[in-house]
Amino acid sequence: MSILQSLMEIAEALAVGRSIPLPIVDLCQDLGVEIHRSQTGRARALLVDAKNNPKVLLPLRDKGPAEFTLWERFLIAHELGHLVLHHQGVAKPKNPSEYWKTERLCDAFARWLLVPESRFGELGRQEARTAAHSLNLTRYLESNAGINWAGAAMRVTDWHCDVTFLQLRRELGNTLKVCFCSTPKEIGRKIPISDPLATALVNRGGKRTLEALPAELLGCFPSLSEVSSCVMMGSLTDFRLAVASNPNTRTPSLESDPRLMRESLVSRV
Ligand SMILES: [Zn+2]
Repeated sequence: MSILQSLMEIAEALAVGRSIPLPIVDLCQDLGVEIHRSQTGRARALLVDAKNNPKVLLPLRDKGPAEFTLWERFLIAHELGHLVLHHQGVAKPKNPSEYWKTERLCDAFARWLLVPESRFGELGRQEARTAAHSLNLTRYLESNAGINWAGAAMRVTDWHCDVTFLQLRRELGNTLKVCFCSTPKEIGRKIPISDPLATALVNRGGKRTLEALPAELLGCFPSLSEVSSCVMMGSLTDFRLAVASNPNTRTPSLESDPRLMRESLVSRV
């Protein structure tokens, strides 16, 4: 069994019998893992003393509600992934390539833990047929499974590899920057506000409804082809897109591992 398969099974076993959204603090207690806020340097979160007294360290925060945010829940779940790898005897990464692979494994563990297959798999597999269905599914998972949107988007692509999700933010200097993409090729791309897509996003932003976008507007994303439908939702400065491709252009199955080629959420978002 591959490490990936082991992680999926362990995530499922840890989630089984627990309520949804997964009570991550209770789970940590049961596993003997403490959660602290501390200086974490450049890290988004850390797992320390995995061998004797495991602790998840989250960055200090001086405002906001006491409970953990969706992003922090994902960070905690990701660090539990590191603990599981430690318990499995997986050696620490020795080079950047191994490091990134480990990060992506822990991202996968986190989304399977927060969105267990036994609870959401049937819905997830049947739900996404169009871009609109896909984007609605991410919103459903966000509010029902308590997972951050990017984590939910990655989880949907576990079921539907013919859909791509992107998040763009408006930057100073009047560009839109791709800050998240469920495939790595478009991350970091900057789109000038004069681009027809940027104009359409800004004009349609701020509504509470999904807005359809014509596929012709996606020319600024060379990796997206054979688009069958595209929808967006967002504020005036933050836009989320789902792009469905023609099913016969699907990428290979998950087992041949495209998800391991993706960027890690924890390291890059
Ligand atoms: Zn990590």
